[in-house]
Amino acid sequence: MANHIRQQAKLTVYGRKPRKCNVPINEQGKYLKVSQYYGENVYNYHLSKSLSLEDKDALKQVIDGKRTIDKPLATKVANSVLEWAISKGATHFCHWFQPLTGSTAEKHDAFLNFDNDRAIETLSASQLMQGEPDASSFPHGGSRATFEARGYTTWDLTSPLFIQESTNGKTLVIPTAFVSYHGDALDTKTPLLRSDLRINEVMTKFCNLVGMKDVSKVYTTCGAEQEYFLIDKAFYFGRQDLVMTGRALMGSLTSRNQQLEDHYFGMIEDRVLAFMEEVEIELYKMGIPAKTRHNEVAPGQFELAPIFKDANVAADNNQIVMTTLRNVALKHDFVCLLHEKPFAGVNGSGKHLNWSMSTDTGVNLLEPGHNPHENYRFLAVVATVVEAVYRHADVIRMGIASHGNDHRLGANEAPPSIMSVFLGTTLTQILDSMVSGGKYVASGKTLLDLGARQLADLVKDNTDRNRTSPFAFTGNKFEFRACGSSASIGYPLSILNAAVVDIFEETNAFLEQELASGKSQDDALTAVILKWYGNAQRVVFNGDGYSQDWVKEAEKRGLGNMRTTPEAISVLKDAKKTSVLVRSGVFKESEISTRHNVMLERYIKCRQIELKTLAGMVLKQVVPAAVEYKAQLAESIKKQKDCGADSSLELELLKDLSNYSKSLYEQTINLNTSLDDLHHKLDEETFAKRIALELMPQSVKIAELCNQIEEIIPDENWPVPKFFDMLFIR
Ligand code: ADP
Ligand code: MG
Repeated sequence: MANHIRQQAKLTVYGRKPRKCNVPINEQGKYLKVSQYYGENVYNYHLSKSLSLEDKDALKQVIDGKRTIDKPLATKVANSVLEWAISKGATHFCHWFQPLTGSTAEKHDAFLNFDNDRAIETLSASQLMQGEPDASSFPHGGSRATFEARGYTTWDLTSPLFIQESTNGKTLVIPTAFVSYHGDALDTKTPLLRSDLRINEVMTKFCNLVGMKDVSKVYTTCGAEQEYFLIDKAFYFGRQDLVMTGRALMGSLTSRNQQLEDHYFGMIEDRVLAFMEEVEIELYKMGIPAKTRHNEVAPGQFELAPIFKDANVAADNNQIVMTTLRNVALKHDFVCLLHEKPFAGVNGSGKHLNWSMSTDTGVNLLEPGHNPHENYRFLAVVATVVEAVYRHADVIRMGIASHGNDHRLGANEAPPSIMSVFLGTTLTQILDSMVSGGKYVASGKTLLDLGARQLADLVKDNTDRNRTSPFAFTGNKFEFRACGSSASIGYPLSILNAAVVDIFEETNAFLEQELASGKSQDDALTAVILKWYGNAQRVVFNGDGYSQDWVKEAEKRGLGNMRTTPEAISVLKDAKKTSVLVRSGVFKESEISTRHNVMLERYIKCRQIELKTLAGMVLKQVVPAAVEYKAQLAESIKKQKDCGADSSLELELLKDLSNYSKSLYEQTINLNTSLDDLHHKLDEETFAKRIALELMPQSVKIAELCNQIEEIIPDENWPVPKFFDMLFIR
């Protein structure tokens, strides 16, 4: 049974050429600068000819949350949007939302309408503002009975409308929130928008208290670095596991995977670069500022990072980035894998959420600044955020839990599932010395008073990076590195914001007290720093997060370490821990159990699919390949014996192969049976835990046996594309 599929796939891939795409050009055939076509598919009301200046002013106020939109204004906007969309060649519009599936959903409607018998295009105010998709087919975690199947999508005016191009047409995309009949959020956007409002409220107050009187708005900023793998389509379709689960469930590592570390920042191959270039052209047209592109650590792994934006738009943009990566990859005969751990043994993929808060006056609240005033404010913001991560570590950990991320968190190349904060040596020393009442001695041996004039430069110069930390300070922002590559970032962002809002409420109350007692601003801020940091410094860890020592040390410090999704999401059943989400106004009480049920169900379903797929591949592909090679060996042994030749090698191979494949067969049958048995016997929560703690380790053993068999069987008999094929042939 020579494996023709795999051999043919290889030949196909050898013949691939980089794909040429339509690079934007002008009428003379000259290339356009990016700035000339950037955002051309984004609706910009400022440019609308049909909206009056007053209309635009009113619309701006709506977008800034200062008033609500009324029907007459909505009608004018709808007309302007329609006019623009048609001029761009769009025929349809869709309400685009982010249900709890983790991806996006859209229902398309044509602009087509009739004026008597005459065909015309229309878009009414209500079509723009509200949709009513049947919500029964989206995860709702039991938040309503199926007969209340109504769900509503409502236009999110803060995220721009844009046009998505496909091969034969264009669609106007309207970003919307998705809520149930009872107004419960059934999506990731609604809580994020709520968290934004709350951040604005609490942080504006903070700024005003500490002398930034001109600040009238504060918002969170986010730049999401997206990691992904590219493998050739021909290999992808040769493996059921990739198609069904996005992850290779078995596979022997090549002798050279990433130990040479030559892929990271290495030269980008032509075919891949052509893909990246087309992705960027598409993103630029939709107003997404893709900025950096590079090879990542693992072979076949890459990264794209945009310039940061406000968190809500960044979250929408990241969904478009993921969709665009997937779609454009297919045009280039690649498949883009967004799974957190497509290949066991090589680096996994994350999504680093760079996060900060910015004022409407243009101040980044995590910028160290240039004078002592700013330094104290900066240190107080850092101390409050550190306390937020310390006190609410468990919900923050829960927010990044997924079956895919379980393979990554705590593996030897990803941040551990222990939430800790990296501050770097300088910042830690400054804060530590404040708390201990000592003086901070800068590396140049100069004594600094704690007003630390040099702080700004020191923090910047201190460029030590820590790739092992889940939450790292990187100069003027925090980088939340533990988020999974396939995740919808709205969820972790809304949870992080809720935690930060919660502690800043306390900071503000405390500041008010201190200031009222006659303290100077700097002294009051110092008191804030001491109040939080003395306690929260326990969550600060600047060392190697991959080491076992840290696991032990973290335990001593009393920090949580929830290794699996079932454990992490059980936090949602702990009212004390989730109270922060409700108290901060980011989630409703009823939405907490919804989230729990949806996450639990998703975990179970994804694991069941994985385990069933693994069993299927073992029984229908690996075992038959082993049996066939056994027969070949037996035949050969017989022939050798007939002519009196030495067959000890064949005998040894046969013995090993027999042992491995027998054991593989038995373990797989066991796994299958346990999966079904446990499912019948146990409630969902216990079932999920048993999957994580028993069945997953069993599946790892099964995968290891498959890999041992793969090492024995001749290359051309192996039934599926190998890691070598997928990671190295492009
Ligand atoms: P690195 O890989 O070195 O961490 P990248 O350049 O790949 O850096 O990504 C850094 C990300 O952080 C970018 O998306 C960038 O726009 C974003 N970023 C920079 N400043 C801020 C900020 N103040 N708030 C949020 N994100 C930021
Ligand atoms: Mg990067």
